[in-house]
Amino acid sequence: MVKHIIPETLSEALKYLYQGDFQIIAGGTDLMVQNRSWSETPVNFTKNMLYCFDLLELKGINVIDGRVEIGAMTTLETIMNHPGVPSLLCQAIGEMASPAIRHVATLAGNIGNASPAGDSLPVLILYDAWVELRNMAGFRMILLKDLIVGPRKTAMHPEEMIVKIVIPIHNFDFESYIKVGGRKADAIAKVSFAGAVEIEDDKIADIRLTFGAVGKTVIRNETAEGAWIGMTITELKTGIWRLIDMYNQLIQPIDDQRSNKYYRKTVAINLMKDFIDRL
Ligand SMILES: Cc1cc2nc3c(=O)[nH]c(=O)nc-3n(C[C@H](O)[C@H](O)[C@H](O)COP(=O)(O)OP(=O)(O)OC[C@H]3O[C@@H](n4cnc5c(N)ncnc54)[C@H](O)[C@@H]3O)c2cc1C
Repeated sequence: MVKHIIPETLSEALKYLYQGDFQIIAGGTDLMVQNRSWSETPVNFTKNMLYCFDLLELKGINVIDGRVEIGAMTTLETIMNHPGVPSLLCQAIGEMASPAIRHVATLAGNIGNASPAGDSLPVLILYDAWVELRNMAGFRMILLKDLIVGPRKTAMHPEEMIVKIVIPIHNFDFESYIKVGGRKADAIAKVSFAGAVEIEDDKIADIRLTFGAVGKTVIRNETAEGAWIGMTITELKTGIWRLIDMYNQLIQPIDDQRSNKYYRKTVAINLMKDFIDRL
């Protein structure tokens, strides 16, 4: 029989994780579905569960020294309504699930679930977000792009826990997030795209492009982005075929129940083209 533990403090939670064989549950909006019982009896958890949603130490948002720090147990609804959170992330969260789900679901849960279609991930990776992981011995910071290593796979150790998501604040001149789903609300993404550009003296100083749900993890290629630094927007628009060629090779989607790989690739490339056309 599995154990159900509600720790009162972060250090108590870390002690249980150190003992092994515990799974963290935050809002439970992924885990309850993944472990659902078809006979309408209570969920079928197969691991000991550590209920961390009420840990006050992990709730709240701080804006300090050019970054936003989001506690792991802060709900998506709180994040979305905070004035210090980058607007692109608020937009992505606003398109996730429904208000009821957003009142319990967390950003740490979206990261921990590591779904290729997780809606916050293209935006967090575009922003070069970091994740603070803790265990009994201390903490380490890891870039989110390095933490998620495959579909539903992270580089987190079993005794570690996400305590904070840290987003460097960046004021881009243009930014955009588009999610394509089966319907307007409460739909998992078939494809998503986030783009941001910063201009200085009429030249591109920074350009970032990320694609969700079209690969094993979010697709971002910093070499492809870097090639446009110092160019003008006109040069970017006339040379767009080079970007299309590159992302045609990088984007390798799969067929699944929501969409097929041809649709996904075509739409992903069109979203990027549209973003660049609108600059
Ligand atoms: C009806 C419905 C609609 C949905 N729509 C969307 C959608 O549009 N877009 C989208 O991206 N998702 C969607 N989801 C999925 C889900 O709501 C999100 O992924 C959400 O962010 C998960 O957060 P949670 O706190 O509920 O995670 P949980 O279910 O509690 O946990 C998810 C995973 O993260 C791990 N985890 C949680 N917290 C931590 C931590 N602090 N440290 C380490 N690991 C941790 C857990 O162990 C588990 O593996 C939907 C779900 C439902 C039920």
